[in-house]
Amino acid sequence: MQRLSRQLKKQNKKIGFVPTMGYLHPGHLSLIREARAENDFLVVSIFVNPTQFGPTEDFDKYPRDFKRDRNLASREKVDCIFYPRKEDVYFKDCRTFVYVEDLSDCLCGLSRSGHFKGVVTLISKLFNIVYPDVAYFGQKDAQQAIIIKRMTRDLNFSVKIKVLPTVREKGGLALSSRNKYLSPKERREARVLYASLKKAGNLFKKGIRDANRIKNIIFKMINNKKTARLEYVEIVNTKSLKPVKKIKSGTLIAIACRFGQVRLIDNIII
Ligand code: AMP
Repeated sequence: MQRLSRQLKKQNKKIGFVPTMGYLHPGHLSLIREARAENDFLVVSIFVNPTQFGPTEDFDKYPRDFKRDRNLASREKVDCIFYPRKEDVYFKDCRTFVYVEDLSDCLCGLSRSGHFKGVVTLISKLFNIVYPDVAYFGQKDAQQAIIIKRMTRDLNFSVKIKVLPTVREKGGLALSSRNKYLSPKERREARVLYASLKKAGNLFKKGIRDANRIKNIIFKMINNKKTARLEYVEIVNTKSLKPVKKIKSGTLIAIACRFGQVRLIDNIII
């Protein structure tokens, strides 16, 4: 991969890069399409990254279907799928990790200790393997996108990070590879995530600024659903990820919630 990328660089080709864990859905495809349109050469990586899963999380159960992904990617005219094995990515005696302080230990980092260290270490390695000019990420994983932007700046990676809007089902549920594991009832009830975020947006438009008041309204809407087990609702500044008291334009509202066994996240930026 490095050899190929170096060659492309010599030919002045612009490399676009979409890192994924596979089981591609239209959320991934929106990143792939934008990247396809903006670059000479498009690399998509598929790697279910073991270091970002906790010991009790769903690494083994995470859906995988390489053939299906390969067909979808070739339809989108992806030039190269980088599909390494675990042992190609991690040396057994690897002792170097990339960790973004402060931003990694709040929101999803609270319940998923070590998750962002795993994500950011992998993404740094992929940047050093693929040499992308532009890398594409989804707003769906808002905290991840913010952390990766910071890491890229702090470590002087010469790659531009683009964050694209969340793609949703008709009912508003954000597309995720994990949605496949929702029962029909859980899937219906999970629509409340986006419904509550939209409600928050509307309350802001009506002039409500008090973060606690809006948080409580979101709590109530979600807790009304039988299959929901709320993990957090946070209203934070997008730079620091610290909670705010007053909501303003640009504030991030982020939710993590389980429906049955399936952990889902969603967010909006006001
Ligand atoms: P994943 O395969 O879940 O690691 O996701 C790979 C990339 O696709 C990440 O940058 C995600 O934020 C992005 N992504 C996942 N779901 C969506 C979605 N529904 N809309 C937009 N981007 C998404």
